[in-house]
Amino acid sequence: MGLLPEALAEAGVVREAIDTVAVTHTHLDHVAGLVAADGSDAFPKLRHLYVPQAEVALFRRDERLGRFHARCQGFGDGFALSDSVTAIAAHGHEVGHSAFVVASGGEALLIWGDVVHVPSIQCARPELTWEFDDDQAAARATRLRMLERSARPDVFVAGAHLDFPGLGSVTRVGEGYDFTPA
Ligand SMILES: [Zn+2]
Repeated sequence: MGLLPEALAEAGVVREAIDTVAVTHTHLDHVAGLVAADGSDAFPKLRHLYVPQAEVALFRRDERLGRFHARCQGFGDGFALSDSVTAIAAHGHEVGHSAFVVASGGEALLIWGDVVHVPSIQCARPELTWEFDDDQAAARATRLRMLERSARPDVFVAGAHLDFPGLGSVTRVGEGYDFTPA
């Protein structure tokens, strides 16, 4: 929400060193960060912009992001962004919504985008969906699948709407789950 350049700087990541960006879906709060607050490119050296295949047309419909349209490439389930980063289908919240698994040293980080919007409610009651889930039945099924997959000591999750710092771990509690921020 406008703080991406600041957050990258704080993490010691130089924006000019980034040439590849992959997004979980094309909702505006997930793609508008391609543009910096002053209107310039947030990633001046961007060469590859990966967007879920089912949402490439949606992305290209937004004229405000027109300067990125030519660099936009679709990806699908199982697409390997690198040796350690793989995309997995997580449809429901949006038609092509995807997650990314970063695997390293026997541990994994599941970057699940918008699988959970309100962790204080949807972890304990993962069957609850909301109006911004494009296909609520699919979103529910995906959330249940992702939570089950995450509830392991060697798996961490990152999500755009999780409690600060947006990164943590999931444990199973009764019929539901609990999210513990890192
Ligand atoms: Zn979204």
